[in-house]
Amino acid sequence: MMAIGRKEREPFVIQHADVATGDADGKLLHDMTIVVGSDGRIEQVLPSNQAFVPAGYHCIDATGKVVAPGLINAHTHLFAEGKMMKAKTVSPRQEQAAVALLHSPIGKAYMAAKVKANAKTLLNSGVTTIRSLGDVGYEMVALRDKVDADEVLGPRILASGPMLCIPGGHGDPYIALSSTTPEEARLNARINLEHGVNVIKVAATGGVTDAKEVGVAGSPQMDEASMVAVCEEAHEAGVIVAAHAESAAGVKAALRAGVDTIEHGSPMDEEIVDLFLHNPRSLRGFSGLNSTLSPCLPLVKIDQEVLGISDIMRSNSEQVTDGMVQGARDGHQYGISEGVGTDTAMGLVTQYNTWRELDLLVRYADFTPAEAFHAATQVNAKNLGIDDATGSIAIGKDADLLVLDGDPVADLRFLEHPQLVVARGWPVWRPKVKHMEEVDSLVETF
Ligand SMILES: [Zn+2]
Repeated sequence: MMAIGRKEREPFVIQHADVATGDADGKLLHDMTIVVGSDGRIEQVLPSNQAFVPAGYHCIDATGKVVAPGLINAHTHLFAEGKMMKAKTVSPRQEQAAVALLHSPIGKAYMAAKVKANAKTLLNSGVTTIRSLGDVGYEMVALRDKVDADEVLGPRILASGPMLCIPGGHGDPYIALSSTTPEEARLNARINLEHGVNVIKVAATGGVTDAKEVGVAGSPQMDEASMVAVCEEAHEAGVIVAAHAESAAGVKAALRAGVDTIEHGSPMDEEIVDLFLHNPRSLRGFSGLNSTLSPCLPLVKIDQEVLGISDIMRSNSEQVTDGMVQGARDGHQYGISEGVGTDTAMGLVTQYNTWRELDLLVRYADFTPAEAFHAATQVNAKNLGIDDATGSIAIGKDADLLVLDGDPVADLRFLEHPQLVVARGWPVWRPKVKHMEEVDSLVETF
């Protein structure tokens, strides 16, 4: 990743661009000029014949191009690249050794380099803000601080640190701290808060990726009282809580406890819908949803032999995926604040394919392309509490921008190859990502 060092931002003007607003109706503004100051913030957004170009600003002619707000990916992990996960059994001793290695000085240096490279891939693919939801340690907190200090060019980062779970539960032992009582869960939340996290992630149910038996994926794990304790601690510090939940029982317990975003989800009944729309225990009075179709659908749509996954993983996927897709549709139908997260690093979920989740929401969950793009920009910004800084192109907000060959609402594939990415006013000219062809060809098949 490019070190920015003490280099000053150059103020610039993008002229004669069409602007994809990210509004839910897909509004496109014609022949606009966007002025970005040396502090990286947007100073003007005006029709080109009304805009004023200050002296010393670098001019970029974007005739025929579309400028769009940078994408936000509300559910990422940067500890891997998203290759297919092959079936393999690991003994408890091998597991212990792997965890010890990850937390050794060599392991930490390795992980710091890996998350930095993956953050660059996300940025180059047009994602100007990410939220990590389950890290090995505090490597994402450290990277966030470097990005915030302009020492490293990367997307804006909201970092979770390790998730919180029950012993042997989802995420344990690689990316989680475990607890058995509400008091212990509260202490684990405090540990993460003391490390400066932006969000706390809990595992309300089991998950597909690390279940050792069929039926574990959606079964409730952390109890409601423990999640209440975590939410109290986090909200006291102004920090949001995200819950991994893959069944109605898990979603309900997490929402009742005051969780701010549900990850994955389930079909919704009236109580679930009401709690999403008005959640008295949440930080801001409502809860959002990230359906993360990207990691789920391949596991049920692609031939098991081709995937090389275990029977357990296949069966668990089959048990929860239909429910998540239904949850995504229910969320859309009932006007829930539904954002976009892809669960990068899971099998077949690369760090560069965020745009594909928008396409899946259109094809499987009744979203229009405009609504999907709206979800990945304005809705995500609102759900994560950063809508004063990003999510749309407006005066005073950070310049998180993409220059595209066409309107993403007309064809989401325009998001695949941005011509220019701007993160907080820092330009990435001709952004490039290294594709994994085997993965790309598999995700193209369904
Ligand atoms: Zn995840």
